[in-house]
Amino acid sequence: MKADPFAQLKLLDIAEIDARILQLRHQLKNLPESKQIAELQIERKKVDDTAIDFRIQRDDLAVAVAKAEKDVEAVRVRRTKEQARIDAGQVTNPKDLERLQAELANIDRRIGVLEDEELEVMEQLDEATKAAAGFDLKIDEFDARIQELTNARTERAADVERELASITADRGPAIEGMPADLMALYDRIREQSGIGAAELRAKQCGGCRLSVEPAELSRIRTAPSDEVIRHEECGVIMVRTAESGL
Ligand SMILES: [Zn+2]
Repeated sequence: MKADPFAQLKLLDIAEIDARILQLRHQLKNLPESKQIAELQIERKKVDDTAIDFRIQRDDLAVAVAKAEKDVEAVRVRRTKEQARIDAGQVTNPKDLERLQAELANIDRRIGVLEDEELEVMEQLDEATKAAAGFDLKIDEFDARIQELTNARTERAADVERELASITADRGPAIEGMPADLMALYDRIREQSGIGAAELRAKQCGGCRLSVEPAELSRIRTAPSDEVIRHEECGVIMVRTAESGL
């Protein structure tokens, strides 16, 4: 293919724009905050999974405390009733009275046992509540950090998008007046390998960074200046400049 050497030089500017566009798109897809957020979310899930057990334990203990309170209350009600019977002088038979007083002593023991049990579950509930609250605090810290990173990511993405929009706007004027066949070839190579054209600089291909074979170099040296040269190794259009080392 033949192309005006000046158009070939302009192709280097276009390649630079396209490289920058690729780079910015890659940046957008790989924002550092996204990786950090993903890592934090994994950590957060681990903590949350552990917290579930403690929350269940806390809720079970709250139910146990309520039941213990009810049990103590029921026995106390019974005691008050029996005591009232004695106080009202309803029990006159000494044997009945003796039996009733023994019963009251029994009830008191029972109340003591139930109160000890109640106290024990209350202490357990207190510990479980503190443990669950500790996990909730950790989760809150994770959420705050994730929110912070999400905001930072939004800001960074906006910066990259702004630059992307600006450089994409530059591309239009850059390709204006370029030969259609040269651009078609350039675009085809670019779609295949990411780079469409590069400078032949100091006998090295700017696309693949390999030194150009001496035989190929001598062919390039004798080729007319409007000949479109492609590197045999990687296929990119190699643009000759004063720095090519020919
Ligand atoms: Zn190459």
